Amino acid sequence: MLQIYNTLTRQKEYFRPIHKGHVGMYVCGPTVYGDAHLGHARPAITFDLLFRYLQHLGYKVRYVRNITDVGHLEHDADEGEDKIAKKARLEQLEPMEVVQYYTNRYHHDMEQLNVLPPSIEPHASGHIIEQIAFVQKILDKGYAYVSNGSVYMDVEKYAKDFHYGKLSGRNLNDIVTETRELDGQDEKKHSYDFALWKKASPEHIMRWPSPWSDGFPGWHMECSTMGTKYLGEEFDIHGGGMDLMFPHHEAEIAQSCAALGHDTVHYWMHNNMITIAGKKMGKSYNNFITLEQFFTGQHELLEQPFAPMTIRFFILTAHYRSTVDFSNDALVAAEKGLVRLKEAYTRLQQLQPSALTTVDVKGLREKCEEAMDDDLNSPIVIGHLFESARAINTVYDGKGTISATDLAELKNVWHTFVVEILGLKMDDGNQTDSNKQKAYKGAVDLLLNMRLEAKQNKDWALSDHIRNQLTALGFQIKDKKDGFEWSL
Ligand code: ZN
Repeated sequence: MLQIYNTLTRQKEYFRPIHKGHVGMYVCGPTVYGDAHLGHARPAITFDLLFRYLQHLGYKVRYVRNITDVGHLEHDADEGEDKIAKKARLEQLEPMEVVQYYTNRYHHDMEQLNVLPPSIEPHASGHIIEQIAFVQKILDKGYAYVSNGSVYMDVEKYAKDFHYGKLSGRNLNDIVTETRELDGQDEKKHSYDFALWKKASPEHIMRWPSPWSDGFPGWHMECSTMGTKYLGEEFDIHGGGMDLMFPHHEAEIAQSCAALGHDTVHYWMHNNMITIAGKKMGKSYNNFITLEQFFTGQHELLEQPFAPMTIRFFILTAHYRSTVDFSNDALVAAEKGLVRLKEAYTRLQQLQPSALTTVDVKGLREKCEEAMDDDLNSPIVIGHLFESARAINTVYDGKGTISATDLAELKNVWHTFVVEILGLKMDDGNQTDSNKQKAYKGAVDLLLNMRLEAKQNKDWALSDHIRNQLTALGFQIKDKKDGFEWSL
């Protein structure tokens, strides 16, 4: 029976859905103002694994993953410029053009990673009316106040009746000292009060009419609203990255409890974070590698391109609650591991049955299920599969035999766990794509190195010729002190 770790109770619990045979699951999706990077891949793959496994167990799952397209302000909580509006201003685009562009690109990246689309993908901007109604409910219950056209959660009042901080384990005193003094603080009774609705400043372009002001919803409001709209006032699972636990999810719990008088979510699940070569991802480290850059190898920290299935496999080789450190070496090792798995999968399809089984193939299904039931322990599943790969290779090499029944079962288990549950494509051109990418990058680098040499020899005609021809093909070439940079 499936056990999952509930962040709220800090323990593994048997999964018991509210409605027999049905599961409601909500996961915080991306804020669509830039390309998806590794930080987006991990929650997407973690909850894709859960989505797939729940379906394998026979549940009908309604999986809601939202698109944040309004209200996520620059300083994360509720101060600063709207991330999407800022991008729109810089690129001179309509905000919804930014949203559409990056949503399309996000979908493309997810498809590459073989992440299944959710059942519903609601946009925050498409649920303004519902969000206004939700804010009104909190006001009616007396847990919010209007100040200068904005509406704030009255955290102190809420904390008298409910437990504020129960998910993140923080208390109000910790939160006071952590809250930065920013604009708009003078409108609030306390620095820890958070915005449910913000009055738009004159230059703010994303705005809607409300009973309080022309403005926009606070970031946390969309998830309380859309979660309950599509999954009901109580639903089973809410997931997201650990970085969302506070303030986003804590605020979501407060909003829902304030409006409805009770908790909405039964199981809170959080995936751990990703580091790159031991460092947190951050602008100052210049290590925000987008998924597209991984797939093409076009980033200075990358020694080669990595196929989407390598990224997926690598993420699954760690338990979702452990940290994962990305490095070229670790990815190369994952690439090799995946090749071994694919080889065994191909060989398995070619094996001929014998009268008797002499290799150890018993109980693979049970072992894999047991690992998945233990809070989605994908690294253990992968370990069992590698053990099984050794048995497959033994038979393939003629050093062992397998019976027809065992062979059929083995094929079935591999298909179920590798293809359907782990979601690893075994027969796609990913590896070939990766080799093509490597060859393509190598060829362009070679040409540009020849150009560099021509320049050093003052052979301007050749140097210009190479640059002009590449530019005509659509390449953008930037000369740098220590070489060059290119993109298509
Ligand atoms: Zn959310």
